[in-house]
Amino acid sequence: MIDTHSHIYCEEFDADRAEVIARAREAGVEAFLLPAIDSESHERLLAIASEHPDHYPMMGLHPTSVADAVSNEREMAIVERLLASPDHRFVAVGEVGIDLYWSSEYRSEQMDVFARQVELSLHHNLPLTIHVRNAWSEVLEVLDGFRGRGVRGVFHAFAAEPEVWRAARQMGDMLFGVGGVVTYKKSILPEAVALMGLDEILLETDAPYLPPVPYRGKRNESAYLQYTCAKVAEIKGVTAEEVARQTTTNARQMFMI
Ligand SMILES: [Zn+2]
Repeated sequence: MIDTHSHIYCEEFDADRAEVIARAREAGVEAFLLPAIDSESHERLLAIASEHPDHYPMMGLHPTSVADAVSNEREMAIVERLLASPDHRFVAVGEVGIDLYWSSEYRSEQMDVFARQVELSLHHNLPLTIHVRNAWSEVLEVLDGFRGRGVRGVFHAFAAEPEVWRAARQMGDMLFGVGGVVTYKKSILPEAVALMGLDEILLETDAPYLPPVPYRGKRNESAYLQYTCAKVAEIKGVTAEEVARQTTTNARQMFMI
């Protein structure tokens, strides 16, 4: 399996990061994709990625870190410089997108910064890792402006209904990141997963957030990916091995690893 979304570089793992990584490898996780947030954590992200050859960094500005124009220019200059630097090999522009859950104060700034990062992904021929929270119409509006230009990537932590899945998959060569939410009792996600092809699903944890059952309420870690894998297998009526094999192939193709 590949954990396509792990914030292992966050301070939640400072006390036991080596053990967390060892448990994940033991549980069959063969690679880890690390989405960026903002300049406060880029250095930690890059340090972890350079220490572990099976940890692959992304680069981008997270929507909840988008603020006023001055701050956005400063952050985007860093993202652009790092993406262009020959010292790093990034597997995606991420995580980027729009999040209006906490506040819609910077709605237009988030749309602008997202569009700018879609452009960057095309320029660098990298996929996108897209974060969407309370903002599907905004995200689809931005992506609609790039139709026919070869946009590709993943809607990370996908948790919406089948209608949204149908609209989102029209936006390019798009995959859907399925995480712990699929194991939650009241989740609407299984309905969409049942309709998806196995070839459009990626497994992810979003560690330390969104742990699957039976770890709900605890810190999430990549070893728990097996619970999400098992749940997807149950929904699709195939073996967990089949889900692991196909989603790993999907991840290797999308992120070119
Ligand atoms: Zn994330």
